[in-house]
Amino acid sequence: MQKIFHKWQHRPKLKLTKTFQTVITDDLDLAKTILDSGGVIAIPTETVYGLAGNAMDRDSIASIFRIKNRPYFNPLIAHIGKIEQLKSLCSTIPKEAQELIDAFWPGPLTLVLPKKKSVPDILTSGLNKVAVRMPSHPMTLELLKSIKYPLAAPSANPYKYVSPTCAQHVKNQIGSSIPLILDGGQCEIGLESTIIGFEENMAVIYRLGGLAIESVEEVLRKPLVIKTRSDNYVLPGQEKRHYSPGKEIVLIPFEGALPPIVNPDVLITWKPNKSSHNSLSLDGSEISGASRVFSILRELDNSKIGKIYIERAPEKGLGKAINDRLERAAYPF
Ligand code: AMP
Ligand code: MG
Repeated sequence: MQKIFHKWQHRPKLKLTKTFQTVITDDLDLAKTILDSGGVIAIPTETVYGLAGNAMDRDSIASIFRIKNRPYFNPLIAHIGKIEQLKSLCSTIPKEAQELIDAFWPGPLTLVLPKKKSVPDILTSGLNKVAVRMPSHPMTLELLKSIKYPLAAPSANPYKYVSPTCAQHVKNQIGSSIPLILDGGQCEIGLESTIIGFEENMAVIYRLGGLAIESVEEVLRKPLVIKTRSDNYVLPGQEKRHYSPGKEIVLIPFEGALPPIVNPDVLITWKPNKSSHNSLSLDGSEISGASRVFSILRELDNSKIGKIYIERAPEKGLGKAINDRLERAAYPF
């Protein structure tokens, strides 16, 4: 992947001056009106809630970076409602990308593809590729089909904090910075999208997420090249510390020995267990764990507990992405 240009290595400078009386609503016409006028709103997706603005409008994109306090070197994903829109964003679509689109869109898969010149540099942090996804949440898909431009939509939380999986989470974290939150209920998957790109004809995974690697490999009929972490931090969005609940988190191996603790409140096991009051998964499935992991990290943020032990997920399917998020949340301050 291309190195990030020096000029993007800084944070938004402008301070937010505007505050709003945020409405939580399902009014798609109002959402469209705000977006058409260059505004930024929160939208539901099947992964997490996104902070959305016109992906072809530099000012809307700049507002998203400012509201999140996200550094400009961390590029945004363009969300589309129709496959034909890809042509306005990407110059070429590799055969394998097309296979993945046919298999998984709409859904929790982002593809990084060569970008067209017309795509604003601020969206891609100056990179010559653009990340694109078609989300499957019916409300957002309807919104995307009703507008003439893609939406840039990173998770609707301040940079490095836990991603929101319901409208109220958004309101609590960034409510007054945006006029409207589209309420589409609880996010079905609860983890961000899986990100895949192509380097020298090899399919590369950049972020583990809501689509299991195994499903992608099955369609491509070969293993993916894994580039989900970088010790030198040259790839965007791969910070070791992220999803921060501001607590000391100690990870226990999946089905490993539990620590000798007296208070079951400071232990979160993978599945319900009599040693703990809380579990990541309600039934031992990865799907349940994925949809709960961010809510649990958020509850920790609000609790008085100083140190918490969390059992890892099994290292398969969505469990790999859950463990990725737990590791970043547990990374020492
Ligand atoms: P999110 O934080 O969910 O909006 O996802 C954005 C992430 O997508 C970034 O942190 C990058 O890891 C990845 N991404 C977005 N655009 C690009 C791009 N042009 N090239 C490589 N990775 C990208
Ligand atoms: Mg995010």
